[in-house]
Amino acid sequence: MQRHDGDDDLTLRAACPPVVSDTSARPAHGAGAGADADEARTDEARTDEARTDVESEIQADVAILGAGSAAEILVGALSGSPLSIVVFEPSLVGGQCPFVACMPSKAMLHDAAVGRRWDTAVARRRDVVDHLDDGRHASSLQKDGATLVRSAARFVDPTCVEAGGRRYRVRHIVIATGADSVVPPIEGLGELDDVVWTSADAMRAEERPTRLAVIGGGVVGCEMAQLFAGFGTEVHLLDVAERAFPDLYPQVGEIVDDALRARGVKICRGATVEAASRRGGNVRLELSNGSSVMTDRVLVATGTRPRLQELRLDRIGVHVVDALPVDDSGRVAAPGSIWAIGDVAGRGEYTHLAKHQAQVVANHLDGDGSRRFDDVVLPACVFVEPPVMTVGPTRRELEGDDDVVWATGELSEIPRWSTDELIGGFLAVAARRSTGCLVAAHGAGARFDELVHALVVAIDGEVPVRRLAMSMQPFPTVGEVLGPIYRRLLTQLD
Ligand SMILES: Cc1cc2nc3c(=O)[nH]c(=O)nc-3n(C[C@H](O)[C@H](O)[C@H](O)COP(=O)(O)OP(=O)(O)OC[C@H]3O[C@@H](n4cnc5c(N)ncnc54)[C@H](O)[C@@H]3O)c2cc1C
Repeated sequence: MQRHDGDDDLTLRAACPPVVSDTSARPAHGAGAGADADEARTDEARTDEARTDVESEIQADVAILGAGSAAEILVGALSGSPLSIVVFEPSLVGGQCPFVACMPSKAMLHDAAVGRRWDTAVARRRDVVDHLDDGRHASSLQKDGATLVRSAARFVDPTCVEAGGRRYRVRHIVIATGADSVVPPIEGLGELDDVVWTSADAMRAEERPTRLAVIGGGVVGCEMAQLFAGFGTEVHLLDVAERAFPDLYPQVGEIVDDALRARGVKICRGATVEAASRRGGNVRLELSNGSSVMTDRVLVATGTRPRLQELRLDRIGVHVVDALPVDDSGRVAAPGSIWAIGDVAGRGEYTHLAKHQAQVVANHLDGDGSRRFDDVVLPACVFVEPPVMTVGPTRRELEGDDDVVWATGELSEIPRWSTDELIGGFLAVAARRSTGCLVAAHGAGARFDELVHALVVAIDGEVPVRRLAMSMQPFPTVGEVLGPIYRRLLTQLD
């Protein structure tokens, strides 16, 4: 879609009020603000129905449903455009990343690593999450020219949404409602609400459990296991996969599992949790391999589901249960101009991916429409110690592709390994014979959460392996691991 200049947009902008702020839904300061706002949202949903018919429609160019990381970047990217924007958010403006996900988890992982006590870490976490005050995020949206409506929104039709008792007639609608943690259907778990946590609950917790069972050993599960073990909680990590990150080279999962075990995490792999029950003051989890685990709390990290249930997608002819039909430009397969960005788009759950998708959709709403979700490579990190990094497709995704060659290296090959007493460290890099350029990389090792940038640049810049193999890496850095790998790749490409 091309840029929309002209009188039409200016008329729409003028018709849209600068601020429509329903303060009844504004989250309170302090712990639990998210939950309070959720209740407010439910109440509003009930009253919305009654009020919408009697209120007149407000006009705008773009409606953004949700004010998380994706929405914030979209508003920023459109701020110089003539488009009038209205953003709907029933909970904390800023979404999960700053308040209950990335930021508090990274802060607490750091605190555990440097030996701080739980109470100190909780106090610092309150500062890091701005005491759950989203004022900074809200004013930034408004400074960028958006109208913020503190209510949940849902579709009326492909060019209209309703929220807080009003209807908004718009030209473009962007769904940016994020994703919810899913509690797996384990027998008995549903009756243990008071002891079952999602990661968001864990990141609001004031008390540290003595024992914690983490169900699910993916990115969130591994980070949570390391975090709580670091503060002295007895952690069990339970996962159906035989090793961590099974889509990558096995060495990566082995390094992660070894590092978690070294911190005292008890890992049970290759078994599913089949039942949960209360035993006195304990919770008992029964596993498919016949063993059981006694714990105080259960943290579920088994996946998420896009937040679509309240949106009334049926009113735009979309009938989905789990995933939105979204193409590579972010457009939803529905009538009108409807887009999806961030976790709800179902392409991966990372803040940087949400931000990238926002830039892509901004380019379609107010640009030449040339950008795509996959026009740059996707990197990701898992912030365990040592960190895991991936760039591009996994080993499993590239399996059977005869055009692809891999070369690997160990951190123990490089001097920094012995000077800094590093533990483990493995990197695998793939290149294409047809292009002579890198296509993917992954590994686990000290400082790999920064080393990742070198590989992102090499892949996005389409730098030939022949050229990479000539580059210098400063001595003695972890990045020296790249040199021998590039040279090994070159021998396979020649
Ligand atoms: C524990 C944890 C740690 C993480 N750590 C990292 C990390 O280190 N690095 C990284 O890149 N990613 C990390 N992530 C993932 C990252 O947090 C998400 O990918 C990112 O926050 C998604 O942003 P979003 O804008 O799509 O969704 P959200 O931030 O969830 O925002 C969506 C917003 O939509 C609102 N909403 C819902 N329904 C409606 C409606 N009907 N109308 C209006 N608004 C609505 C919600 O209230 C919410 O505020 C982590 C996730 C978790 C759980």
